[in-house]
Amino acid sequence: MSTPRLLNLVAELTYRCPLRCAYCSNPLDFASVEECLGAEDWRAAFRQAAGLGALHVGLSGGEPTARRDLPEIVEAAAGAGLYAHLVTAGVGRALRILPELRARGLRSVQLSIQDVDDEGARWIAGRSHREEKLSFARRVRELGLPLVLNAVLHRRNLGRVRRFVELARELGAERLELANTQYHGFALLNRGALLPRPGQLAEAAAVVAEERARGGIEIVFVLPDLLAGRPKPCMGGWGRKTAVVRPDGLVLPCHAATSIPGLEFWSVKERGLVACWEEAPGMNAFRGEAWMRAPCAGCDQRHRDFGGCRCQAFALTGDAAVADPACALSPHHPAVLRLREEALREPSPEPRLRGPDASSSSAPGAVARSFSRQS
Ligand code: SF4
Ligand code: SF4
Repeated sequence: MSTPRLLNLVAELTYRCPLRCAYCSNPLDFASVEECLGAEDWRAAFRQAAGLGALHVGLSGGEPTARRDLPEIVEAAAGAGLYAHLVTAGVGRALRILPELRARGLRSVQLSIQDVDDEGARWIAGRSHREEKLSFARRVRELGLPLVLNAVLHRRNLGRVRRFVELARELGAERLELANTQYHGFALLNRGALLPRPGQLAEAAAVVAEERARGGIEIVFVLPDLLAGRPKPCMGGWGRKTAVVRPDGLVLPCHAATSIPGLEFWSVKERGLVACWEEAPGMNAFRGEAWMRAPCAGCDQRHRDFGGCRCQAFALTGDAAVADPACALSPHHPAVLRLREEALREPSPEPRLRGPDASSSSAPGAVARSFSRQS
């Protein structure tokens, strides 16, 4: 099989972040991942990505504005001909450096909004930063940059979908992504507090339909695959269009791929992006369809969802090569049904979120503390 063309690079510039969202997609062991790519390493990676056909780079994290050399990194991305898109929480230095990022070639911004009210934001992320985020969003628009607002939805904020839409309209966002929590990593640990109650998703979907009918803004509403009965085409297929480069240089097909033991991925610093994308054994492990077994092999949905998420398959069954258990056709689907029932039992008291107060040293709070020291 020929190697697919790389379309999109996700540059995870750092795992540092002052927030501690209970659904954070940082890997659980992120505190042990060294940040060892400098601006020149990123410049080389961007040039190679463009050579492989990539058009777009998401400058992400953690919180990418925590990096002092972000302006140089943005310039390197633009210089390589990539569309540079910043994915940020809009806190800390973000507002101050935004004009310089714009001048260096930044093309668009995605701002995460944890909740529309302070109490909800503090519950999920440890702190609110509401006014800071609103100022940041307004500055994005003043500078003429397209703005995407991203809100991750869960049990506590699903009832406020209309207020998220109102806020996005007020801020002049072009697009609002209402992304229901995907239950990996920290979100899987916190599922007992995050999974929606019966009926919540249908109510939110009805509000989204009404707001879409009013027009004026693009609204994306993504159902969680554990509740949908069909898996997501995770990352558009393993090693099919997107490469994720971690702060330590490892090149992965998705953020969580190192959670599957035994896969060998390579570092962009040691081998360069082309070899990491085309030849690394881990990148090829689930490319195409040769790895598929029944029921995926022969299923007419396999070109659409690529058998779902390999990391979720491993997390729930111990075997990364089976159909994603989120799929109702999977023999492992009862594991998902049990998970949902267990998480939806009325917890008393509600489970404590894994965050800054958690005992685990790899919780996002550990990063928040180190961010404070370095800012
Ligand atoms: S803690 Fe929140 S804002 Fe920070 S990287 Fe994780 S999800 Fe993003
Ligand atoms: S059986 Fe496999 S390919 Fe078919 S819908 Fe389920 S996960 Fe997708």
